[in-house]
Amino acid sequence: MILIFLGAPGAGKGTQSELIAKEFSIPQISTGDILRNEVALVTDLGMKAKAYMDNGELVPDDIIIQIIEKRIKNGDTKNGFILDGFPRTIKQAEELDSMLQKNNLSISKVVFIDVQDEVIIERLSGRRVCPSCNAVYHIKYNPPKVENICDKCGSKLIQRSDDHEDVIKRRLQTYKENTSPLVEYYANSMRLIKISGEKDIMDIFHEILDELLNIPK
Ligand code: ADP
Ligand code: ADP
Ligand code: ZN
Repeated sequence: MILIFLGAPGAGKGTQSELIAKEFSIPQISTGDILRNEVALVTDLGMKAKAYMDNGELVPDDIIIQIIEKRIKNGDTKNGFILDGFPRTIKQAEELDSMLQKNNLSISKVVFIDVQDEVIIERLSGRRVCPSCNAVYHIKYNPPKVENICDKCGSKLIQRSDDHEDVIKRRLQTYKENTSPLVEYYANSMRLIKISGEKDIMDIFHEILDELLNIPK
């Protein structure tokens, strides 16, 4: 099963893809996590990407496509994988289609999580992440058991440097300009599942699961 999670920053892509990845025992591939890891390790790639990320802009397509091509070749993807935060442009989506086609693979479903702009700022400004295992929390909606400590690995949680109001606004604008056209791109090929992201985390999870298992409601 090959899934894509699509949606604005803060829609819940990371939260839901982590749950679905666990459910189906397939890896969650987040281009944002891969990039932040490169930035932390001060690699050439990380240094190229950093300025774009800090400004809430997209990292150039050629860099992102190389990252994905390399990651998909990893042996852990043989039973499928989840793409979280990729593709983010039509160009990336077209490259992905041809990459998969070459290997006789295709996208099973694109899960589009729909949220209004108003909830995004509150979600992102309250987001806390684990720098070690990339788990995602929210100070109000999904707090860790012990304040500021990751439930899964015990590391101290951090706030992402791009989760501040000025950068959040740029990211939303970037999403609207470059990424939102993908909703139509995938709807045209009948691969889209649209889910409202303004519900409880577990309710959304079960809704996505039902769709993926094709259980009639
Ligand atoms: P969010 O949680 O807001 O959806 P991500 O963690 O997915 O954010 O991405 C953080 C940043 O990394 C983006 O603002 C962008 O600069 C860069 N990035 C991540 N994925 C991509 C991509 N597919 N194409 C271009 N830039 C990307
Ligand atoms: P994305 O990957 O789309 O940027 P995240 O999964 O990181 O989004 O979620 C953004 C923030 O909102 C996180 O702090 C997360 O804990 C919180 N969150 C996710 N889904 C919900 C939800 N359904 N209701 C309330 N808060 C949520
Ligand atoms: Zn952790």
